[in-house]
Amino acid sequence: MTDRKAQLAANLARVEERIARACVAAGRAPEDVTLIVVTKTYPAEDVRLLAELGVRHVAENRDQEAAPKAEACADLPLTWHFVGQLQTNKARSVVRYADFVHSVDRPRLVAALSSAAEREGRRIGCLLQVALDRESGAAGQRGGVAPDGVEELAAEVAAAPGLRLAGVMTVAPLSGPYAGRPGAAFGRLREISTRLQAGDPAANMVSAGMSADLEEAVAAGATHVRIGSAVLGDRPGLR
Ligand SMILES: *Cc1c(COP(=O)(O)O)cnc(C)c1O
Repeated sequence: MTDRKAQLAANLARVEERIARACVAAGRAPEDVTLIVVTKTYPAEDVRLLAELGVRHVAENRDQEAAPKAEACADLPLTWHFVGQLQTNKARSVVRYADFVHSVDRPRLVAALSSAAEREGRRIGCLLQVALDRESGAAGQRGGVAPDGVEELAAEVAAAPGLRLAGVMTVAPLSGPYAGRPGAAFGRLREISTRLQAGDPAANMVSAGMSADLEEAVAAGATHVRIGSAVLGDRPGLR
């Protein structure tokens, strides 16, 4: 094993152990939580090593970086998740490699993803990114629809050809009532998910939790955790 592969293996084992412990503490089965490794800023070679180590879900947050990386890894048995804020003019590129988009937060993006997916003959799983900075009104700074806009946006996705409503996603907010309280924020997301699933049982993905707060996310019912730095190492700069 190369040094890098050994390092990734050790980091992965630690993260999987954290998830397993959090599941035990929450009385959940470990297989109910899927690890998505966020590979942004790291090269395709690392994605390849992760695949060799058994990772099956990877995520990226910028199309310019993700598109060539996904292309270089097209032979690997990976599911690709797009988790970054997305401009409508990137929809056409993203639907070529992404199986899931976690950052669906506005009607214009739904329309762009829908027509792009149709053109590519693909069906993309869409998660509504919920901004928990406030309960209503404008989107959060880092994207997202406020809780009171979820129902309407969900209906738009459900009616859009080429798209499938897959669930909800959030990033622990830096401001508002849940600032510094990731567990409470993820609990709120779980409530929103429960309401959504009452109308659409297939929309059962709850994407929450990153390297710093995966335990809180698992405790609150996350089905998918998005882990970057704890597996790949600290990224230079703030991204
Ligand atoms: C970078 C990123 C992650 C992973 O963050 P880490 O703190 O490195 O685990 C998760 N979700 C989104 C949306 C991200 O952009």
